[in-house]
Amino acid sequence: MTTSSTDSPGAYLRRLPAGTRLPLPADAVTGWPTFPFEGELRVKPLQEPVLPEPPRKGEDGPADCPVCQAPVTDALWADEHWRVDPIGTQGGLPAAVMLQPRAHHDLPDLPAERCAELGPMIQRVQAALHTLDGVARVHLNRWGDGAAHLHFWFLARPAGLLQLRGTFLPLWEELLPRVPAEERQAAHRRIAEALAAGGGTAYAS
Ligand SMILES: [Zn+2]
Repeated sequence: MTTSSTDSPGAYLRRLPAGTRLPLPADAVTGWPTFPFEGELRVKPLQEPVLPEPPRKGEDGPADCPVCQAPVTDALWADEHWRVDPIGTQGGLPAAVMLQPRAHHDLPDLPAERCAELGPMIQRVQAALHTLDGVARVHLNRWGDGAAHLHFWFLARPAGLLQLRGTFLPLWEELLPRVPAEERQAAHRRIAEALAAGGGTAYAS
């Protein structure tokens, strides 16, 4: 397998003005109706590249991976190969959950069988979040900069809140009032039951 180098700066990095503050273009994202902030803003100075990058959580394998070390009973739902966990211990959206394989894989080394299951699993998790009241859309994100164990974010966007559409939903999630614990637990139970209706075990209590 051919892989490109990520240990030394290439043409892209050498071209960037590291250490300087980038200008804020007049038509920048700050003008989008969905941008959560207003007032005088400026862009942070662009930091120098760090190469090679530091390891992510769980980069060295299951022994130091928080997902592999978390008991399956911490999940809302799981089957033999996949688990769905709540994100954080509080939140401002109707639901925010994470889909992860049970075994320690990232996308490049995810076995073919799991890859084939991924499409149907994404559809199942999305459908489970849509069983909650007032969910207009379920957004799916995959970044993978913090943890080496493959994880997909599912964020439920409340119906009617057009300002929360799209890219900035994860930022709005941090700003919205916290959902009361009872309501959050009820949502978790409903998601777990919806998933378990298609197989696997619901653990949300
Ligand atoms: Zn892991």
